Amino acid sequence: KGRDLLERQEAIDSNAVAYPDHIPLVPDAAKGATIKDVDGNVFLDMFAGIGVLNVGHANPYVMEAVHEQADKLVHTVDFPSEPRLDLIEKLEARAPGDLAGNSKVVFGGPTGSDAIEAAIKLAKYNTGGHGLIAFRGSYHGATSGAMSITGKKDFKEPYAPLLGDVEFAPYPHPYAQDRPPEEAVARSLEEVRAIVEDPYSGLTNPAGIFVEPIQGEGGVVTPPEGFLAGLREIADDNDLPLVVDEIQAGLGRTGQWWASDHYDVTPDIVTTAKALGGVGFPLSATIYHEDLDTWGPGDHAGTYRGHVVAMRAGSRAIEYIEAHDLLAHARDLGAHVRERLRDVNAPLVGDVRGKGLFVGAEFTNPDGTPAADAVKAVQRYCYERGVLVWKAGPHGNVLRLLPPLVLTEAQADTALDVICEAIDHVTA
Ligand code: PMP
Repeated sequence: KGRDLLERQEAIDSNAVAYPDHIPLVPDAAKGATIKDVDGNVFLDMFAGIGVLNVGHANPYVMEAVHEQADKLVHTVDFPSEPRLDLIEKLEARAPGDLAGNSKVVFGGPTGSDAIEAAIKLAKYNTGGHGLIAFRGSYHGATSGAMSITGKKDFKEPYAPLLGDVEFAPYPHPYAQDRPPEEAVARSLEEVRAIVEDPYSGLTNPAGIFVEPIQGEGGVVTPPEGFLAGLREIADDNDLPLVVDEIQAGLGRTGQWWASDHYDVTPDIVTTAKALGGVGFPLSATIYHEDLDTWGPGDHAGTYRGHVVAMRAGSRAIEYIEAHDLLAHARDLGAHVRERLRDVNAPLVGDVRGKGLFVGAEFTNPDGTPAADAVKAVQRYCYERGVLVWKAGPHGNVLRLLPPLVLTEAQADTALDVICEAIDHVTA
């Protein structure tokens, strides 16, 4: 059955579908941390739709409300509804650092890219500037503005020119840069400061600094202490908004509501999506300091900002995470996962990192080149044994795990038995 559907998809779907053909998964149903394919094979899901299903597939507490809401009211544009106001209140109360209780929320539309576009507009609108500071290795989305601040050349080159003034600084990555954490941070911050303050840097009239608190697509690059705090300082010194993209890292994934919470830094603007729609409903939001709430009615418009079912699902997911203390669970289980990966005695696994259940293992060949084929082979080996794992990094040489936060320790160990065996097998 699976083969038939794959063939059918190949015949009629766009060439642009991002389908890894070494993982020919054809899902039929999913529950918690498992996915059943159309032929009845059951997989442990260690990537959760790229960090979307934080409370698990078809979470019953969320689905109960989804069914009820879907039968009652689905779409209202910006008209008020209980689910909308509920979710706004929840997000404002849980916003990172000092934003809690001092923030506003604008729903940007269904995708993370929408939230990024809103953040770019908001930063420009409030500062009157147009220059954007971003980081090498970043990923912020597929729309023009989001691509402009994405540090992935081949992805955006065919569409140039995009937004004009964007400057990229290095993201601190001690392992890849082969330097101590403090030095990686210092070099990065030095460059950001130069971009913003040096009159010869070429970036005129900056509007904001855009950063992922952990680079997801870039390879689960987890910055050392001092990086986000340093960016906060540069932003303050120059009266610029610090925009933290929590689309992949936020909403509990790292064992805190927001990855920036680990670093005790308060952003001015936060983008969120992916897990926001609870069980996979498309929904994004941009959360920002209330002082930046200078837009007038209709200044940032969109048809799909009132998806009531997605909002209700999002609220229930937040309740579920709190009721089951999934933040603590993500912290504990994440540490266990990293420990087990570090215990694999495979020379190709050079660095294991991440926070909570946002985990990366970087594979490097003995000559220092990225071992992308090994990661692909691990994915394939795991797939054949019923475990779905993802990859990341500019060279595709980072094994990325972002399982549902409801993954049990027993499930994690079953998955890790397979993953560790795969690493042994592939790198032997
Ligand atoms: N920002 C980050 C950090 C992301 O990981 C992604 C998606 N991988 C996006 C933005 C874009 O989100 P979307 O694909 O929903 O547009």
